[in-house]
Amino acid sequence: MFTAYDEKRQLFCLLDQTEVPNEKMKQLVWHCPSCEETVLYRAGGKNRPHFSHYSNSSCAGSEETKEHREGKERLYAWVKTFAEEVEVEKWLPMIDRRADVWFRYRGVHYVFEMQCSPVDRTAIRERTLAYESQSIKVLWVLPAELMKRTATAIYIQEWQQEACFQTGSFPPQLMYLDNN
Ligand SMILES: [Zn+2]
Repeated sequence: MFTAYDEKRQLFCLLDQTEVPNEKMKQLVWHCPSCEETVLYRAGGKNRPHFSHYSNSSCAGSEETKEHREGKERLYAWVKTFAEEVEVEKWLPMIDRRADVWFRYRGVHYVFEMQCSPVDRTAIRERTLAYESQSIKVLWVLPAELMKRTATAIYIQEWQQEACFQTGSFPPQLMYLDNN
């Protein structure tokens, strides 16, 4: 994840920084905004700097994959170019959810939600309804590699089909992110 609380409980977003002093960051104590556990600041190698939970964490956010993180980063960078307001990993206490990328465009609130692993279709539906209850339109983004593709067709499973019914969109549409 890209956001964490600092020692003063201020939310710190790594994606909003032009330069992050790695050594200083590593010395500070960071907390997960969801579960309050201490999280690690990670930097180095090919990965963009990010926060991660310790391996024994039970926080839902601790299972974030590299693919999910990179997808959020790309979506956030793109949405910033046109949205009136944008926030990555925005906490929505009313529905107890953390939206991947929340934004406001022409006065309407949206979230991009990435679903990087297969889930029960009802889970997709429930999350869509939860966002809608807050007058937020949800735009699902699925990983391209989980779709069976041929030259002329894309084969999708039930949960992927559910994600095509984006809020207010008819006909249904499929949005996917290709990391390659
Ligand atoms: Zn957590």
